[in-house]
Amino acid sequence: TKFADLGLDPKVLSAVSEAGYETPTPIQEGAIPPALKGQDVLGIAQTGTGKTASFTLPMITLLSKGRARARMPRSLVLAPTRELAAQVAENFDTYAKNTKLTKALLIGGVSFKEQDALIDRGVDVLIATPGRLLDHVERGKLLLTGVQIMVVDEADRMLDMGFIPDIERIFQLTPFTRQTLFFSATMAPEIERITNTFLSNPVKIEV
Ligand code: AMP
Repeated sequence: TKFADLGLDPKVLSAVSEAGYETPTPIQEGAIPPALKGQDVLGIAQTGTGKTASFTLPMITLLSKGRARARMPRSLVLAPTRELAAQVAENFDTYAKNTKLTKALLIGGVSFKEQDALIDRGVDVLIATPGRLLDHVERGKLLLTGVQIMVVDEADRMLDMGFIPDIERIFQLTPFTRQTLFFSATMAPEIERITNTFLSNPVKIEV
């Protein structure tokens, strides 16, 4: 399989080829086509498998039409740590560079003021750690009712760090009709419970 056969937007394909990628990895081959069809995806994959692109590339393609509104991001990516969130943001910049999509990175240790300004302008993709995201919601600065696509990355680490209650709250703040792309290296019982509750007939890909 080639990237060109997966159904991605041409602007995404050109960015992928400029990044030097020639063939999709197994998680990309498995996750991208169902994600583009609007299906929920449950990816069991470790770091280093190319999983970041497996959710970022279809997200950019799906969001390429339409425009962000102030304080209502169109998609949300949750990562367990600042470093991982920053990595996702970097990946997004690489893959979305030929589009006009906007992003904001909401992590602790950065002033709220700066993040508020970005949110007010309207963003297509919000990349966040769970605690900081909920801080913004509680301050009344951010609405998650416009989220069409939600990604949970490294759910097993979220579990280790005690973030599962936060994740459940965040799921409940987004529309029931959203598409969910969920990634974990392992399927602990607590992770299984979350996916049974919040994913709808997910396509399961294990690599
Ligand atoms: P990840 O598992 O998302 O952290 O990605 C691991 C590394 O693989 C990153 O440095 C990516 O830039 C790289 N990568 C992702 N997809 C591909 C691909 N299809 N071909 C070559 N490298 C890739």
